[in-house]
Amino acid sequence: MSFSTEHLQSVQDDIEEAVTKRDTQNIVNHNGNVTLLAVSKTQTAEKLRKAHEAGQTKFGENYLQEALNKQVELTDLNIEWHFIGPIQSNKTQPIAQNFSWVHGVDRLKIAQRLSDARPAELPPLQICLQVNISGEASKSGVTPNELLDLVKAISTLPKLTLRGLMTIPEPSNDEALQRQQFKQMRDLLNDLNKQAFALDTLSMGMSSDYKIAIEEGATIVRIGSAIFGARPVKITPEN
Ligand SMILES: *Cc1c(COP(=O)(O)O)cnc(C)c1O
Repeated sequence: MSFSTEHLQSVQDDIEEAVTKRDTQNIVNHNGNVTLLAVSKTQTAEKLRKAHEAGQTKFGENYLQEALNKQVELTDLNIEWHFIGPIQSNKTQPIAQNFSWVHGVDRLKIAQRLSDARPAELPPLQICLQVNISGEASKSGVTPNELLDLVKAISTLPKLTLRGLMTIPEPSNDEALQRQQFKQMRDLLNDLNKQAFALDTLSMGMSSDYKIAIEEGATIVRIGSAIFGARPVKITPEN
């Protein structure tokens, strides 16, 4: 399976349908739109180009060197690049220089380094904080208890704009459990906004669960395989 306009179109249709099913009363500070982020890790630049021709302009990448290579190949296109992978502190400078958004920040030190490295001539880097909502020991992300302090600290950094929260919930076939985790994320965001923050983004929902995520308040869904097909074996070494 590879990229096809039909896959992209059907994801877009599903997003629209899920939007009509949600309870907008619970969704704070939001204009109602859901952003589709096409997750293109391990996909070739050629596939991204095809998706772009089909109208997709926002792409999420996990592996820095792979992403930078594609950015060079696709420099003629107007793409908004999101970094969604784990962030090592020695990679913060190229990330701050080459992306518009970073999902998955979960430490103050990383946020400080991103802010320091963001070039003055670029707008602030848009940030989501990763929350470990399932409490799995292996997951990155802050716990809900640690969240408020981190939000306060990061809000003061000059070259970052804290937009909201991101999560990767525990994989599960139990729809009720998935829904519960997305709901908890929405509650966390709403609670922060009651504390006078103005966060407008919930980055949650992947190929297997984005409809539920949207119903529970997602504003950005990160979708890879439903658009591009099953991922090939990773084409670059870990970076
Ligand atoms: C790979 C990845 C996705 C997309 O996963 P699919 O199941 O292919 O839609 C979304 N978010 C993150 C953080 C990822 O690493």
